[in-house]
Amino acid sequence: MMGSLIISTGDELLRGALADTNGAFLAALCDDMGVPCARMAIIGDDESALADLLSDAIGRYVLVLCSGGLGPTTDDVTTRAVSRAFGVPLERNPLARAQVEERFRQRGRAMSPINLKQADLPVGAVVLENPAGTAPAFMMTASGTRAVFLPGPPVELQAVMDRHVSAIFPSGVGPSRVVLRCTGEGESILQERMMPVETAFPGVRVSYRASFPEVSITLSSADPVPLWQCREKAISAIGESLFSTDGCSLAERMIGLLTERRLTVATAESCTGGLISHLLTLVPGASACVRGAVVAYDNAVKTSALGVPEEVLRTKGAVSEETVCAMAQGVCQSLLADIAIATSGIAGPTGGSADKPAGTVHIAVVHPLGILHRKFLFNGINRTRVIAASAAAALKMTLDLLENR
Ligand code: AMP
Ligand code: MG
Repeated sequence: MMGSLIISTGDELLRGALADTNGAFLAALCDDMGVPCARMAIIGDDESALADLLSDAIGRYVLVLCSGGLGPTTDDVTTRAVSRAFGVPLERNPLARAQVEERFRQRGRAMSPINLKQADLPVGAVVLENPAGTAPAFMMTASGTRAVFLPGPPVELQAVMDRHVSAIFPSGVGPSRVVLRCTGEGESILQERMMPVETAFPGVRVSYRASFPEVSITLSSADPVPLWQCREKAISAIGESLFSTDGCSLAERMIGLLTERRLTVATAESCTGGLISHLLTLVPGASACVRGAVVAYDNAVKTSALGVPEEVLRTKGAVSEETVCAMAQGVCQSLLADIAIATSGIAGPTGGSADKPAGTVHIAVVHPLGILHRKFLFNGINRTRVIAASAAAALKMTLDLLENR
């Protein structure tokens, strides 16, 4: 039998009105879980086409992941197609019904009778609770093929996969894996550092995924012993750009550490425009340690809201060590934080000069023992990337400080 078949359904996909991000998400997950995708198919809201595709897949693929078409409207035909392909009728599934009703109750909305259609599932369906919406996901098995039917909205699909990942992926097929997340260094430099490690552990698969400003290195192997040894060697080979060995993001690590040490943080952001604060507040539990942020973009605001002396701005400029340090000290005092992060830079692509080219960014971190400053020069061609790189660098600097690196 082959690996997995991923099916994305919806007329909007065929029309080009929507890009198939569910397919890409599921393919990456299948790859990580050791059931690589052998084929991806996109079909319309077409009951016969889906029924035929599924009939053909049963007994041929270990796993089928199909998204979309579970809604209550008449264009959603997935359950009927599954019923045809698996040769079983639809029945009102009590568990699915309870979940649909519960979801409406939680939202305080009246349920229309057509919503109950979402609880009509093929006989034998195993319901997978959808924590993010009304459409219950479900799983069918026949002739050694496990087929999973998932809601179309990406948030719901990801929530279902997240919650049920171990139930969905056939046990024993997935290798163990370790994800090492790095920032501040490109893929090729990391690959170079990893070369001797890759050579020393031929049984461990090493894959690189760049998602600016980060690179994830995934080590996978069916045998946990070499995997663990490889992990240790990789950690020392990668060096200081490594920030997480357990899948946590920079912001998650930082919130975790601050909470553990009962420390609070504030930001004073010029070129990052609040991005650092946004990344921190995305982490559940951020309220335990995030005090707040001042987005001081204009020089007048740097002075009025953060107390940066006009003299400093005039003589050293907004993008300077002196300014960014004063910004960090200012926000630390006014927002009563233990740690303060400040950024000031030229996001580009315009606005640079010979001595301060686009991509020049100053970052300061005030902490209980003093103040740390660093100057960075990012590639100033792409504004979004300069901003993202600055936020990541600021978080990484703070993290290193918290970990005494
Ligand atoms: P459906 O469950 O088929 O009614 O899909 C509901 C919504 O989910 C669609 O209107 C899209 O916004 C989104 N969606 C469905 N399939 C995909 C896909 N393959 N990739 C990204 N978004 C999707
Ligand atoms: Mg649809």
